Amino acid sequence: MKIEALFVDSESAAEPEVERISTALGLVPRPVGSAREVFAAVQAAPDPVGAGKRMLYLTANRGAFIRDCPGTAHYTCCGYRILHVAAYCSMDCAYCILQSYFHPPVLTYFLNRGDLAAELQVEFDKQATQRFGTGEFTDSLIWEGVSPRNAELIHLFAAQDRCVLELKTKTTAIERLLPLAHRRRTILAWSLNRAATASRYERGTAGIDARLAAAARAAARGYPLAFHFDPIVIEEGALAGYLETIETLFSRIDAEQIVWISLGALRFMPALKAVIERRFPGTPLACGEFITGLDGKLRYFKPLRIRAYRAMAQAIRRRAPGVCLYLCMEDDEVWQEALGFVPGRRGGLAAMLDEAAVRVCGLAR
Ligand code: SF4
Repeated sequence: MKIEALFVDSESAAEPEVERISTALGLVPRPVGSAREVFAAVQAAPDPVGAGKRMLYLTANRGAFIRDCPGTAHYTCCGYRILHVAAYCSMDCAYCILQSYFHPPVLTYFLNRGDLAAELQVEFDKQATQRFGTGEFTDSLIWEGVSPRNAELIHLFAAQDRCVLELKTKTTAIERLLPLAHRRRTILAWSLNRAATASRYERGTAGIDARLAAAARAAARGYPLAFHFDPIVIEEGALAGYLETIETLFSRIDAEQIVWISLGALRFMPALKAVIERRFPGTPLACGEFITGLDGKLRYFKPLRIRAYRAMAQAIRRRAPGVCLYLCMEDDEVWQEALGFVPGRRGGLAAMLDEAAVRVCGLAR
């Protein structure tokens, strides 16, 4: 994180974590009466979307920490539960939906960790299989340098037997997590891509080799792993690069350690197109053969998605026949054409993922 300005909501300024974060960043926090003051500072910058990545706002989450994945109408959703611990990201992927999701986007970190723990305890007490993750509105591990929150979450999950936590990242910031007693209740997950796509469109992230090296180190410490090929960017000659990444993955990682692998082709709301074109001039990213899906998002033409998924799924199944492989936000026709089945025939996608978590992470049934 390269933070240039630190703001704290004046009601939260006395929280002990404020001092720790300001020391870690070497910045004096500026108290503000409301988020509007931070937003004004961001909006005054020539590139507000970029500026929000270098300004950090510390505040309390006054809403719910736990939310259901919003999913998308007409497409199969995974039933994942979001832990809303922070917002936005210091890395800068050209396709990142967060650029147009928050208005304006500002790095935000929620200080009221006690409330988060209390909400989680209510969920743990339900004694039901559930999957949680912090990687929906931020990268899970960019906060490692400023906060011990991931370690705390890992300990909380390690103390129960029905739920798993997925920490999803494009970084290699696992050093402090490696020695923790996780009891396989935390899955460390990496977003993967073909190397050329990552270097072209994923500014500020760790390279694919470095991500896989970090994953191998995590596996050696007993962490269950997950991988997300998302977004798959369909360009001339790209498929060979994706197949190469799949080969590299399985040359380094034992398939038995993998809880699930997802595939998801690039998709985005139309509003993001203008942001991409403004912030990444000349990029070919948003110039593919897109159609508007039933949820209003732009997606590649269906036959192109099916072709890419099918080839990648075949390569993954050759190396890991038993791994839980799923598509992110696709309909039954694409599932059938690409993977040869529809989730409904296996109890639904959520049940498939729950079963994988039980099997690989050793959850109680
Ligand atoms: S790492 Fe994820 S959250 Fe961060 S900029 Fe890239 S896509 Fe967005």
